[in-house]
Amino acid sequence: MDFAFDHAEHDRAAHLRKDDAWRTPGTHVLVIGGDHVPTVGGAGLRWLTLDEAPEGEWIFLGTRGDEHYAAVVVDRVPAELEPASLRLIGPTIAPEEASLAVHAVGIARWHQTHRFCARCGAASDIAPGGHVRICPACGAHHFPRTDPAVIMLITDEHDRVLMGRQPSWPEGRFSTLAGFVEPGETLGDAVRREVMEEVGVEVGDVTYAASQPWPFPSSLMLGFFGTALTTDIRVDQDEIAEARWFTRDEVTDLTASGELLLPPDISISRWLVKSWHGGTIHGTWA
Ligand SMILES: [Zn+2]
Repeated sequence: MDFAFDHAEHDRAAHLRKDDAWRTPGTHVLVIGGDHVPTVGGAGLRWLTLDEAPEGEWIFLGTRGDEHYAAVVVDRVPAELEPASLRLIGPTIAPEEASLAVHAVGIARWHQTHRFCARCGAASDIAPGGHVRICPACGAHHFPRTDPAVIMLITDEHDRVLMGRQPSWPEGRFSTLAGFVEPGETLGDAVRREVMEEVGVEVGDVTYAASQPWPFPSSLMLGFFGTALTTDIRVDQDEIAEARWFTRDEVTDLTASGELLLPPDISISRWLVKSWHGGTIHGTWA
């Protein structure tokens, strides 16, 4: 089963970044302010032409077929463009535009929060094409950062699945466990550490499943399947308030009755659960 975000729908065409070759009369432009993008009536992406776009910092996103796509970063998307958070309108975006949208918002947010050189503190300049910032004072090149996070579906020897509820979530809302990778750590070790920290379960084998860009602000969610070596749960009460094992039938029945609410279709968490479950899962928390 393929995951929707696992394959980009655009060619980043990095060879076109260095000069203005990407600027063509037909270039499609997405205006970005924070995580807000222009919409059409609050749903889907609204693309402008180069002539219509406001002034700002330019990012070349890439190509789809013969079409060129770019983003321009502004402080605030003008109200007449009906801006909305990509996070909220994600499910309404055409699937073939999703990778452009997360690319654009991820790199735009990085530019907005990295205007100064991390080495010497001087104001930095955006490089042509928008994928590097260069410091005019000390010459340092700064590249967009991506923060790896692991998200894992853990099963036990009875093929039950482990899910948890965060303290801020209402009763019945559960998801797979997740956490950030720390410096110097392998992905497998991050999976094992996070599960141990959050719910006290020991995990053995870990296999990679799929990944999902999550540019709020700069995460890459790396999805894994993992096998539990122990089943006793001891929640940390800090990141996780409640955790439990679910059988396949429980997931079927409890999502049908509304007692169990799982993440929306667009999320890698739900995709991991669906891959394990193999049947019909009802409802979401969205
Ligand atoms: Zn510098």
